[in-house]
Amino acid sequence: MILVLKESASKAQIDNLIAWLKGMGVETHLSRGTYQTILGLIGDTSELDEDMLSSLDFVETVKRIREPFKNANRKFHPDDTVIDIAGRKIGGDNFQIIAGPCSVESEEQITHIAAEVKKAGAGLLRGGAFKPRTSPYAFQGLRDDGIKLLKQASLATGLPIVTEIMDTDHIPMFDEYVDVIQVGARNMQNFELLKELGKLRKPILLKRGLANTIQELLMSAEYIMAGGNEQVILCERGIRTFETYTRNTLDLSAIPVIKELSHLPVVIDPSHSTGHSRFVRSMSLAAAAAGADGLIIEVHNDPQHALCDGPQSITPEAFAELVKDIRGILDVVGKKLEVPA
Ligand code: PEP
Ligand code: MN
Repeated sequence: MILVLKESASKAQIDNLIAWLKGMGVETHLSRGTYQTILGLIGDTSELDEDMLSSLDFVETVKRIREPFKNANRKFHPDDTVIDIAGRKIGGDNFQIIAGPCSVESEEQITHIAAEVKKAGAGLLRGGAFKPRTSPYAFQGLRDDGIKLLKQASLATGLPIVTEIMDTDHIPMFDEYVDVIQVGARNMQNFELLKELGKLRKPILLKRGLANTIQELLMSAEYIMAGGNEQVILCERGIRTFETYTRNTLDLSAIPVIKELSHLPVVIDPSHSTGHSRFVRSMSLAAAAAGADGLIIEVHNDPQHALCDGPQSITPEAFAELVKDIRGILDVVGKKLEVPA
């Protein structure tokens, strides 16, 4: 349920109402927008008398929300959420590009790629340290050492880091070293992990599962937000369909759909969705044109010898060319790519 409050509603009236609702076992989320103040009610609202709430002189309207996600719902929070990651804003009219290798392989590799993607206009550095590989015999990542190398590359370039967590045991280390914690497609419905991440006050990049609906993605975001961590970035990274020519099928329509349903920023991963470096450019431009708030792109200095996902990784040169063209699209859609020096 949401209550749209009149402009004349005083702080005391709102505070009293919130306290009364709390006594009824209902939590609230207050959103003061440019044009409206909205009080979102979370919990069992079946006992609440709608007519009584509508009759309050500072309440404009009372609406029941059909969707099961509340905190992530645009009806609760009509304005776009803007997340600030060490001075890099994402959401609203702020666009960010996250770039880097699939996996951290060595100090030279990550520091070199970090410097290259920064020069080209990336705002954040990606790199996997704990890798969710299909085969237990494939490279599993440098683990703790990988996190430390990422931090080193971050200190050298000033780029905040984005890397994937797979285990709740690693939360203290990630909380200390990592700027944006990525939840991979395979863990989108690891609810215990999501609940623990909800206790942090750190941005989470939540990737859509391989076979999950948009509503399921939003329900997973809700798990994190229900714990009080409202800094969730959603990522469409391709879903499983009958098509095998590409690694997955990029659901570009997820961008406008999520924008309609939610206020959270949406990022597109053209690398894991297509699986081929030659398709990364077109899908990146299409995502920017369709209203995405950012991209997460795999970039490797030597894709042929990459330890993971080489075929879908673009070179730093191709990345630099791509960023130039993305800027052109952003001019058209009215978004800006601003990265502190
Ligand atoms: C990744 O970003 O490195 C990754 C493994 O992605 P996904 O979870 O989307 O497969
Ligand atoms: Mn990868």
